[in-house]
Amino acid sequence: MKIIGHEKQLNLLNELAISKAVPHAMLFNGDEGIGKKLVALKFAKTFYCEKNSNEQISYFGGCDECKSCKLFDNFSISDFYFIECSDKEQIKTENIRELLYNLNLKNFSAKNKFVIFNDAHLLKEQSANILLKTLEEPKDNTYFILVTSNYSKLPITIISRCQLWFFDSLKEYEIIEILNNKNINLNSKDDVKLLEGSLTKLDMILNNDNVQDEFQNNISDILNGNVDALNSFVSKLVKNKDNLKYNIGVLRNIIRSRMLEENNPEIKNIFAITLENLIYSEYLIFERYLNSQDVLNNIFSNLLLKKFVNVLDTSKLLNQLSLTY
Ligand SMILES: [Zn+2]
Repeated sequence: MKIIGHEKQLNLLNELAISKAVPHAMLFNGDEGIGKKLVALKFAKTFYCEKNSNEQISYFGGCDECKSCKLFDNFSISDFYFIECSDKEQIKTENIRELLYNLNLKNFSAKNKFVIFNDAHLLKEQSANILLKTLEEPKDNTYFILVTSNYSKLPITIISRCQLWFFDSLKEYEIIEILNNKNINLNSKDDVKLLEGSLTKLDMILNNDNVQDEFQNNISDILNGNVDALNSFVSKLVKNKDNLKYNIGVLRNIIRSRMLEENNPEIKNIFAITLENLIYSEYLIFERYLNSQDVLNNIFSNLLLKKFVNVLDTSKLLNQLSLTY
């Protein structure tokens, strides 16, 4: 199982496996879609592979060839538990109780038991309490890995029982390597930037063409001086709060390419200032919490100036209009 990125963590985990110093509970925290779950699986698999023994670990992440490795990959090996805590399939408290009861039983075949809770922050309070009891009384050869994108949502009592591991977002070259391995081609390097170091938005980007076309049309309308188009465009962007950051990224790419294509220096200047303000807008909206409607209105109003190019000195006007927060 080849994992791209997280080299530091993988090396440390490898050392833990070899030195038989595996903590009873670990908490893997980091953004969504960066591969934490894969790292947890790879680590656990090490201890089920037939070519590894408790005395000697030669294959970190398993050999991928033996029967146990294959069973592990299908989540059908005994003494291994993978629990998805996502909202969709909310795991029932009885199931958690039963699982933790099973952990007390004698092992079927493997020498170790691993339990991985994915998206552990979505565990219901009651389930978390049952888990806590188990973590408080660690059993020999039983290991827990809690994977989460938001560890602060877990009860502090659970966090304090776990060794905390932090995972970084993926670097651009790592994302490119992952996409190449999956035979996925994105249109441009700008699209890789839109992913912001994780693969959660990949589907959105692959289905991005409609959004791009729609935005292109909206921008053309605004450039033609259509004030109504400006207002409805900004309201729509603001309403789609969950995707606002992403959409600003898409707009940045569109404005950048329009700027590069533009020959008229005055209009090029309008695009350049719009681009600069768009970059700054993320800071204003997501870190300074300014009203996103005001910020975006201000930015896209600049595009209305295109109509007045050659009529007045736009560069002076633009400098006055550019955001002064
Ligand atoms: Zn194996």
